[in-house]
Amino acid sequence: MIFLLTFEDVKELISKQNVWRDSCVNLIASENTMLTEVEPFYSNDFMHRYAEGLPFNRYYNGTKYIDCIEQECQDYFKKKFNVNVCDTRPISGAIANLAVFSSLRKTGKVITNSLPSGGHITHNKIGTLGRILNYDIKNFSQSQENPFVSDIDESIKIIKEFDPDFIVLGKSMFLFPEPIKEIRQEFPELKIVYDSAHVFGLLYQGLFQKPFEEGADIVTASTHKTFPGPQGGIILSKDFNEFNKFVFPGIVSNHHLHRLPVLLMTAILLDEKYKDYSKRITENAKHFAQELSAQGFNVCCEKQGFTESHQVILDVTKQGGGQQVANELEKNNIIVNKNSLPWDKSVINPSGIRMGVQEMTLRGNTKSDFSNLADKFKKILLNGGDSNV
Ligand SMILES: *Cc1c(COP(=O)(O)O)cnc(C)c1O
Repeated sequence: MIFLLTFEDVKELISKQNVWRDSCVNLIASENTMLTEVEPFYSNDFMHRYAEGLPFNRYYNGTKYIDCIEQECQDYFKKKFNVNVCDTRPISGAIANLAVFSSLRKTGKVITNSLPSGGHITHNKIGTLGRILNYDIKNFSQSQENPFVSDIDESIKIIKEFDPDFIVLGKSMFLFPEPIKEIRQEFPELKIVYDSAHVFGLLYQGLFQKPFEEGADIVTASTHKTFPGPQGGIILSKDFNEFNKFVFPGIVSNHHLHRLPVLLMTAILLDEKYKDYSKRITENAKHFAQELSAQGFNVCCEKQGFTESHQVILDVTKQGGGQQVANELEKNNIIVNKNSLPWDKSVINPSGIRMGVQEMTLRGNTKSDFSNLADKFKKILLNGGDSNV
């Protein structure tokens, strides 16, 4: 085997990536950067260490400082969400889901959002619930009027008929809140898991929806999407804690300890210095959607006000489809991803692109920056091509 990259080459690729993505307009809805105040602390000695078990009850010695940090991290999030259980050991949102989905299994039946409606791969046949855990999966059905949300009456009917072990709400293409309250009202005993990966930062600052108050039992999340922390996962729960033993010894041994102090610092700074971050995100998203629409783009959900989250979804069928448009934008250093829309038949050439404004908002971009960006989209995608818009 021939190895082509030298040590210096790898160094250069890192440096190129740093410079390039720092100069890009980054609009991937699942990404964010860490707060500049915490980034210098991300590389620390905890990254070399193990701490199997729970704080102050470990299988290894040398853990007195991580015990303190991990305990405080859990307590901080518990207090914020007013719940009794928190596990910050899952190293990603998908791992958090794997632990929770494993711990809730009785008969092996579950109801989730389908992939085309915005559900995540971990909720579906080809991912965690199907491929790994072998669940029998039914999907909620979409509202005729707005296929980006579930039809509540139909969903209630499906739950009654199927009688699942639990349901999973929350998704990856996530414009509007989920009907937690309506489902809880109908099913007082049903276990409701709310996967908040995308919107965790918004929830943290009291926006979008209040999953626990509305009736969810367990909330899973990523800590690096709208929540601008290090890449990682988290599980919060009112009382249920069976997933703890699936996290360890079930799934992770080391839990990437070095991210935990940085996660805690991010939470503290969001409360002290970035109190209005989520509000700015949702305002920018709505404004960007309105401006794109005014420029002639087909922005999804106009009638419903476009979006209540950090996301904006475009139907770019007329501009050549999601892949072509994403490539065209990348040539102009604007980074987005193609996305299936609820009515798409094939995922290979989906008709949409999905964008999130959280990273550019963190960088300080305001409404006028997003107006300019919408203008740039028009120049790149509508003026040059043979579009009749
Ligand atoms: C991104 C995402 C996840 C998990 O992502 P990780 O990369 O593993 O943190 C889980 N669920 C949903 C709905 C997501 O969008």
